[in-house]
Order: sequence, then structure tokens, then C-alpha cells
Amino acid sequence: MFDVIVIGSGPAGYVAAIRASQLGLKTACIEKSSSNGKPQLGGTCLNIGCIPSKALLDSSHRYADALNHLSDHGIKVTKPKIDISQMMERKNKIVSQLTSGVAGLLKANKVSQITGSAKIIDSNNVEVTNEEKTELLKTKNIIIATGSMPIDIAVAKVDNKNIVDSTGALEFKSVPKTLGVIGAGIIGLELGSVWSRLGSKVTILEAMDDFLPMADSKVSDDVFKEFNKQGLNINLGCKVTAAISNEKKVTVNFEKNGNQSELTFDKLIVAVGRKPYTNNLFDESCGLSVDQNGFISVNDFCETQIKNIWAVGDVVRGPMLAHKASEEGIMVAERIAGNQVEMEYDIVPSVIYTHPEVAWVGKNEKELKDVGVEFKTGSFPFAASGRALATGESTGFVKVIADKRTDTILGVHAFGPAAADIVQQGVVAMEFGASAEDLGLTIFSHPTVSEALHEAALAVNQQAIHIGNSKK
Ligand code: NAD
Repeated sequence: MFDVIVIGSGPAGYVAAIRASQLGLKTACIEKSSSNGKPQLGGTCLNIGCIPSKALLDSSHRYADALNHLSDHGIKVTKPKIDISQMMERKNKIVSQLTSGVAGLLKANKVSQITGSAKIIDSNNVEVTNEEKTELLKTKNIIIATGSMPIDIAVAKVDNKNIVDSTGALEFKSVPKTLGVIGAGIIGLELGSVWSRLGSKVTILEAMDDFLPMADSKVSDDVFKEFNKQGLNINLGCKVTAAISNEKKVTVNFEKNGNQSELTFDKLIVAVGRKPYTNNLFDESCGLSVDQNGFISVNDFCETQIKNIWAVGDVVRGPMLAHKASEEGIMVAERIAGNQVEMEYDIVPSVIYTHPEVAWVGKNEKELKDVGVEFKTGSFPFAASGRALATGESTGFVKVIADKRTDTILGVHAFGPAAADIVQQGVVAMEFGASAEDLGLTIFSHPTVSEALHEAALAVNQQAIHIGNSKK
């Protein structure tokens, strides 16, 4: 009998399993993916998501930098060449290093690793099937961490030849001359950037009229201009109506303002969102169900409607982000062990790993206006940051939003160099309930790009030193 069975070994599952075991609970982690007889741990993030995409984002950034910017520094190099197979080999090596790292962590934490497909019979019984056998495991608690998969659309069926999803877009054997992307969400922008930097002519077709509606509007406006300048041809209000793949090309039909247009690409990436993955997960009798969008319903503590069955990560409501998933895994493990841990859902940061990066945490101006909260803002452009100029990375800005009356920080938004790390400092500040004044009174090392956060916090109360303060 286990105390906890975790189904899925992505950032939600393996983290939940490790913490449960650390807390003295007898824990198993079941993973259905396997390669060469070994479980393929780490889920989407490590195998086909965050990590391989970041490996390619880094490689392609180095190439584009060598091609376009080294000469700015007075460094002359002959035109760099791309070796895609070596780039992919490097990416695959990083993935396998990290996935075997997860196996090592589970082992070190005495988590039983089980390979097979899990089916929940009831809150105390999980059936596991692999190539060798089907067995019934007994447990006191179940944590579902089965993740998500790409949404497929009937008008652009993935054929893994010319039409691919986010997984296929990490495996191209050569740089497509022309690349279409459906969806200007995070995946479309990150993967579009990879191939654009490597030389593809990229066209993004986005159905909505708004670009990055979840970001602060000044951030999305600036990002839109900058990415178009970089060569991502982002077209809003374009509804794809058909994508027809022939031997070598894909022809895409789309509608904009009632007019039909057609474009032809060498490859097409479909990046229109992800959906929760619960295929064959429940036995009919177990009583668990999913909502109309396929999510397992849970409360703030990730408890399902069935006692002792919990669900965390992409399979439940909230942003599909690895760090949100991991923290939910930890919360649930702690709560099973009897500790009253809660998640701070208002302080989950978001990052788009383009160059420059885009990141934010907390509320943006529109969200606050919508709920009638009075606020004040301070912004600082990287063009006024000594370190950003020295590095040649002076695009973008940092914005801090604080409550008008209490000065408490309500949001931090950044577009620019190391935006993810800058916003992370805002996350820490918000976690401790800091005010803009608190951040302003904090000493930041000079010269760092983080000083832009300091100055933005000072600007909230018209006290910025390195830029004029707007009268409020
Ligand atoms: P998304 O929901 O962020 O964006 C998909 C976009 O596709 C939307 O803007 C949508 O309007 C558009 N779209 C949908 N159907 C369309 C159609 N028929 N024609 C044209 N456009 C269409 O989804 P995503 O980019 O696929 O990412 C999936 C999930 O993975 C997201 O939740 C994202 O947060 C997560 N993710 C996060 C990161 C990160 O944290 N850096 C990276 C990758 C993915």
C-alpha cells in the first residue's frame, strides 16, 4: 500500500512525488512514456517543451548575434554557418541529461518509479498496464499530474511532414525557407523566433485582433513593433480556414476582414494552445469527470470532488506553466502530510523567452481598471540604463504598478534584457508584500540591468534619479 501515487512525471508530478517522499510518505510515480525500456521522465517541459525550446532559442540567438551584432562591438568574423544536426544533437543531449537527472532525483528520494499507463479505478486503486503486465496498486492518495497536449484544429491537421505542432517544430532537419505559424501565443512567438533567427521567412497568422492580450498593453504594443522589426511578420485578425499539404509545400487559406487570402510555406507550425490530457485515465466507475474544456475540476487546494484524489498542473485550471504546476505539486504533497500550505495564485510570473524577453507578474493596468482599483505606475526605459547600453540591449522598459493609497506593489511588467530575472525580483518583493517605496529603498548593484526595476519603483513616487519624473 502506497501513501501517495502520482500519475505523471512532469514538473507537477515528479516535484509532488519528491516532496511527498521527503515528508515520509511512501510514494510511487507512474509514467507511461518510455524509451529503450526506461521511463521517459520529465513530461512535456523537459522532453518536448521548455527545455528543448530554450536550447534552440539560445543556439539561434548566438547565431543571429554573431551574424548581426558582433560587428557592432568591433569584432569581425566570417559569415557564421549553421549545422542544424549539431544544434539538434546539443538540444537532445541537454534533454537526456535532465531527464536522467529526474530519475536520479526520484531514486535519491526513494520514490518508486513505475513505467506504465495508469487508470484510476477508485481513490484507493490504480491499475497500471505496461508491455509486460497489468497490475493493481493500492494507495491512500492519488495525485493526477498528467499534463496537456497540443490542440489540433480540423482546418490544419498535423501530418508531421509539412504541418507540425510544437513538438515537430523542435525537430526540423533543415531551416525552412518559408515558415507559417498559426497562433501568435507564447509557443508561436518562441518557435517562430528560433527559425526566423536561423533564416526562415516567418509569417504568423493570429485569429484575434489583439496581440498578447494577457500582457500589459504598453508591453504588447512595444513587443509587436519589435518582433515585426526582427522579421516575424505577425498578422492579426487572420482566421485560418484551410491548410493543404502537398509533396513539398503547405498552402494556407485564411480570412481577414471578410476577404480570403492564400499563402504558401515550406513548413507550417500549428500553435493554437494546449488542452488537458486525461485520455483513458479514469475507469467509468471512479466518479471523476472533466469540465467542458477537459479540465479536472479542483478547488484552491487542488482537491477533486473525490476525497483523496488530487489534480495539479496543466490538467487543472490556471496558466499552463511548469512553475505553477510544480508549486501545486508541493502544496498537495504538504497537504496530504497534514500541513496547511496554500498557493499564492496572484503571484505566478509569466515569461516569453524571446529576445528581448517579455515577463510579468501580478496585475496589469487594464485588469486593475476593470475591477476599479486605483493605482499609480512608474516606468524606466532600458535606453536610460548604463548597463543595457554597454551590452547593446537597450530595447524595452520596466513598469511597476502600485496601489495608489497603500503603495503596495500590484504588478511588475518588463520587456527587455533579462526581463524574466527582473520580474522574478518583483515576485519576491510581492511575496513579502513590499511597497514601491520598499523596492526604492533597496540597494541594487551598479551597473546591472536590474537597476531599471529600482528606477521604475522610484518613479512610482516621482523619485527616479536617472529619468525625468512625470507630474501626477
Ligand atoms: P496560447 O493560447 O498562448 O496561444 C495560441 C494562440 O493561437 C492564441 O493567440 C489564439 O488566438 C490563436 N489561435 C487559436 N486558433 C487559431 C486559428 N484557427 N487561427 C489563428 N490563430 C489561432 O497557446 P500556445 O502558444 O500554443 O501555448 C500553449 C500553452 O503552453 C500556453 O498556456 C502557454 O502559456 C504554455 N507555454 C508557456 C511557455 C512559457 O512559459 N514560456 C512556453 C510555451 C508554452
